[in-house]
Amino acid sequence: EGRVNTSLKDRQTECPPPEPDSLMDGDVTFQLFINNQFQDAVSGRTFPTINPATGEIICQVSEADQVDVDKAVKAARDAFRLGSPWRRMDASHRGLLLNRLADAIERDAAYLAELETLDNGKPYAVSYSVDVPNVVKCLRYYGGWADKWEGKTIPIDGDFFCYTRHEPIGVCGQIIPWNFPLLMLAWKLGPALATGNTVVVKVAEQTPLTALYIASLIREVGFPEGVVNILPGMGPSAGAAIAKHMDVDKVAFTGSTEVGHLIQQASGSSNLKKVTLELGGKSPNIILSDANLEDAVEQSHFALFFNQGQCCCAGSRTFVQAKIYDEFVERSVERARRRVVGDPFDMKTEQGPQVDQEQFNKILGYISSGKREGAKLMCGGGVAADRGYFIQPTVFGDVQDNMTIAREEIFGPVMQILKFDSLEEVVTRANDTKYGLAAAVFTKDIDKAHYVSQGLRAGTVWINCYDVFGAQAPFGGYKASGNGRELGEYGLDNYTEVKTVTTKVPQKNS
Ligand code: ADP
Repeated sequence: EGRVNTSLKDRQTECPPPEPDSLMDGDVTFQLFINNQFQDAVSGRTFPTINPATGEIICQVSEADQVDVDKAVKAARDAFRLGSPWRRMDASHRGLLLNRLADAIERDAAYLAELETLDNGKPYAVSYSVDVPNVVKCLRYYGGWADKWEGKTIPIDGDFFCYTRHEPIGVCGQIIPWNFPLLMLAWKLGPALATGNTVVVKVAEQTPLTALYIASLIREVGFPEGVVNILPGMGPSAGAAIAKHMDVDKVAFTGSTEVGHLIQQASGSSNLKKVTLELGGKSPNIILSDANLEDAVEQSHFALFFNQGQCCCAGSRTFVQAKIYDEFVERSVERARRRVVGDPFDMKTEQGPQVDQEQFNKILGYISSGKREGAKLMCGGGVAADRGYFIQPTVFGDVQDNMTIAREEIFGPVMQILKFDSLEEVVTRANDTKYGLAAAVFTKDIDKAHYVSQGLRAGTVWINCYDVFGAQAPFGGYKASGNGRELGEYGLDNYTEVKTVTTKVPQKNS
């Protein structure tokens, strides 16, 4: 049975010092979680997961492919059958299970944070104080919704009584990325389970460990068999098998826009399963000349560099008004130079390694293209350590709209600063992208803040802040950044079928 060393499991103090060396016991094999059981892949195949801080193998993980997806979908379908324990369960009890899962995660917060850092490379202090608490909040938020997602009574014409029910869609395939492995799992599980669906989750091949630990907690707190199935595996095999499966009713995907196209196509060429997508971005962050400069510099630094720059909503086009441009660039470079890069288990570390060799190479490629296309390299630009996937915090000034680094998602610690003059100009340039995930504006002028925020074509606009998320507030993209919204009440729509029930009555009275 796949499990991790749980010796640290019951520790619970305020951000306890990490003990990465004792995290994994021996040569455990992490396995697929189907029907509340850990099991090998049918093929028996495994793949290594890597510690990005060293490039070393952490452990082998079972690799699901199409047959395993079939097994998991069958388990999820069976858990969803009419009269099953899950279908008969009171909605309030689904909420209780989500709350119990949140409690178990909170109990094991330190362990989960360590495991996340080991597998993903993000600083432990961030895993512990940002990722894990937001997972807990998200599950509790949706636990609260479980028995409050009400239909309507509708006054249709004639002698009829008409109402709607909000019913689960059925078996939901959920494919998640590696940049926030735990948090993306929570964003998927919370609304799907609150509304009574069953799920087959394919976790990212770079970061399978924390989701498998959560699987053990799912079983521990009493979710019925088959309600949640978790599969580590590759995108083109296990991921694609979910996307084209004839017995999956809905797929929710978070990842690249490129793969988003494939997911939607797979739905179109199979059973027209419902599709929600949260994809890439090239988000504009607009600094007006009246902004509080010190705050705007710090927030813009955070907007880009947070999570090693591996955020779909990263503020990766920093537009600065001409009057303050030089000073903003100077201060941003000074801030980037001060950014502490290093061992993610060191509490002082602000930036750990990129997630893997492929991302590392890709980012360095973008840095070369920036130099080649004439952007001004102000700091960084190179490798930051002699092992692991560390990249120096990098700032490019004098970036032009048509440069590759201003158009494509870099997903790394590379900041692009662009100059603008007028508000009209910056809104037009900010919208000149296929993406529309997020945006921000920094100004003290409320009229300008509203003018810009209403003009921007993006699913989220932050004013004088960045990356402020709440389980209560929806998140998702315009244009090629996605379909649908996650989080908040809106997030429930995407896991619900609305059923209209109309009954003939002897006589209607108002
Ligand atoms: P990134 O480039 O950031 O790794 P991807 O979009 O490739 O982003 O990956 C996000 C998730 O999508 C991962 O779980 C990955 O395995 C999965 N994935 C990749 N390719 C496919 C595919 N062809 N079909 C379904 N899922 C895929």
